[in-house]
Amino acid sequence: MPKKRKKNIKRKNQNNERSYSFHCTDYKVKPIKDAIIVSGFYGLFGLIWIVLSDEILYFFIKNVSLYKQAQTYKGWVYVILTIVLIFTLVRNRSLLVGKTLKEMRQAYEELQVTYEELVATEEELIDQKKFNDNIFMDAHAIIATWDKQGRIKSINPFGQDLLGYTEKEIYNKKWSDLFLTKEKRQNINYFKLISQGEQYKNYESQFITKNNKIIDILWNNNMMSYQNKPDEILSIGTDITERKKLGEKLKKAAYYDVMTGLPNRLLIGNEMKQLIDDNIPFSLAHIDIDNFKQINDTLGHSVGDLFLQHIANKLLHIIELPNRVAKLSGDEFVVLFLHTYTKNELKKELERIIQELGKSWEYNHYVFFVSYSIGVVNFPESGNDRNTLLRNADIAMYKAKKEGKGRCSFYSDAILKDNSENIKLSNQLQYAIKNNELFLYYQPQFNIATGKITGLEALVRWIHPENGFIPPNKFIPIAEETGQIHEIEKWIIETALNQKKAFEQDGKQDITISINLSSKALASDINFQGIEALFASYDVDYSHITIEVTETAIIADIDVAVERLNKLKKLGMKIALDDFGTGYSSLTHLKDIPIDTVKLDRSFVKNIENDGKESIIIKAILFLAIDLGYEVVAEGIETEVQLDYLKKNNCKTGQGFLISRPLPIEEIKDKL
Ligand code: C2E
Ligand code: MG
Ligand code: MG
Repeated sequence: MPKKRKKNIKRKNQNNERSYSFHCTDYKVKPIKDAIIVSGFYGLFGLIWIVLSDEILYFFIKNVSLYKQAQTYKGWVYVILTIVLIFTLVRNRSLLVGKTLKEMRQAYEELQVTYEELVATEEELIDQKKFNDNIFMDAHAIIATWDKQGRIKSINPFGQDLLGYTEKEIYNKKWSDLFLTKEKRQNINYFKLISQGEQYKNYESQFITKNNKIIDILWNNNMMSYQNKPDEILSIGTDITERKKLGEKLKKAAYYDVMTGLPNRLLIGNEMKQLIDDNIPFSLAHIDIDNFKQINDTLGHSVGDLFLQHIANKLLHIIELPNRVAKLSGDEFVVLFLHTYTKNELKKELERIIQELGKSWEYNHYVFFVSYSIGVVNFPESGNDRNTLLRNADIAMYKAKKEGKGRCSFYSDAILKDNSENIKLSNQLQYAIKNNELFLYYQPQFNIATGKITGLEALVRWIHPENGFIPPNKFIPIAEETGQIHEIEKWIIETALNQKKAFEQDGKQDITISINLSSKALASDINFQGIEALFASYDVDYSHITIEVTETAIIADIDVAVERLNKLKKLGMKIALDDFGTGYSSLTHLKDIPIDTVKLDRSFVKNIENDGKESIIIKAILFLAIDLGYEVVAEGIETEVQLDYLKKNNCKTGQGFLISRPLPIEEIKDKL
């Protein structure tokens, strides 16, 4: 029985109902009723006894003395019977009361346990509710419920803050009307879909807040079924706006160059792949800034970055859709031309781009002369996949560099032919010295004011028995690559020094001979030691020998170059910086290099006639160089206008076809 009771109570507890009861024996303690029953029985018995006992006794005993005696015994019997009666009655009652009390005590104990359980359960429930309330109130997520019609039934404070509405403002309003743009308010019955078990977990959507801010939210929706109210959907939304922004940023970082914001190699590669897949013809120009390194070396990387940003901005403005521009790496840019240009049209377009990019860049009183080497490929002629095309554009760009920078080269089969031609040339070059195919020509350098020849620049010539004249710009880079330059250079120096000696013996001590040194001569330890020893072995007036080196040769490793140039200077030679104006030549940079002469490149001199900004720059450079104590030799003077301008601006020495082309020594002797 107690077990059953307990069960009863427990079941009700589980249902969370607060009323409870228990059952026990039907006996109830009622003192008056009990007293009436006991005394009633006693009275009834006494009455029966009084009425019947004498009659019964007389019926059995007729003798008077015996009857009297029996009367006494009858009294005793009465007492005994009443004792038995009362004893029985009282005992039964007491037994019943005792049993009841025991049961009550048990029931009480059970009640106590149940009560404690109930208290615990209630506390648990309170805690649970508190917990739920805390989640609802404090969660960093939108928690909202809405009904079948999409009407909002509740929303937590976080949701209210984020969306900009109070609960009152949005209660019973349709969430799609409040938070979605008109276009997005499609006729999707989310309620139906979710109630049918459609998974709307981790569902992303964009909401518009009251302040018209667009936020990204990640939703998780759940159906909530109640016993006595209509079903609702519980939506929990996390604000992922920042996360999405970060994602966008990461995507940007993957596809765009951080410094310039231009598409990077990956993105342009993908676009190329798309075009290749769709078989759409295109051209790609790989633009490399010649000697960009110098800008970094002179003014530091942050200025180099500024320059690249400047170029990127220019390119963005110049290149029009559908053509695209991207940054491959460092100082390399590419332009993807979707227009199908002819080769000449493309050349013109590239010229326009270079013109727009500008040939000089000013920063903080520094003027950098910029040139661009460009390699061009065409799809499908130059390759069938993006990697091949990019590689071939690179090869073409290097060809442009080799041919003297600041130019454009088209990748075509010619390049391959060129390569095999180069191999052939380098094979033939081996015999050039032995077969006396090399000649040293001399080009006069003259005093601009008087026209008097003051020096001669030694320029090597290769007259090939079959191919005829091969320009130094063609075979010197090959010789530099194969290492043959060392032998050729030795021959040039010997020939020039022998000539110098001959001049001295001829009484022409004042003629300065200029010898070009290749970048390899300065860069290689062994080559330089050989050259140094060679110079030391001659006995000539070294104050009338000038060594011409280019900036590129020096910048490669400035400390080593300076050390080596100083060794030559110790012999008495002068150092001239050749081709000044083709790189990022900066005059302040020059003060670290032990030079005596600056040779203004002929591309520079050519611009004199343009009468624009560049002629002003030339003026400034001449002024500065002279001010810094350098002698200036202007190269490539071809016109009187150029000569006049240089004269007016105090340039002392000149060199160029106007006075004389490089000539064999016999012809030079006549000129002298
Ligand atoms: P560079 O040292 O700047 O030589 C000047 C070049 O300009 C020469 O070309 C010369 O013929 C050319 N030039 C001179 N005046 C004019 C002019 O008025 N108009 C035009 N259009 N050109 C003019 P070249 O001889 O073809 O030499 C080209 C380059 O090859 C030289 O440039 C030099 O870097 C290199 N080179 C030539 N000879 C030697 C040499 O003996 N040793 C080394 N290492 N390099 C040499
Ligand atoms: Mg030179
Ligand atoms: Mg030069």
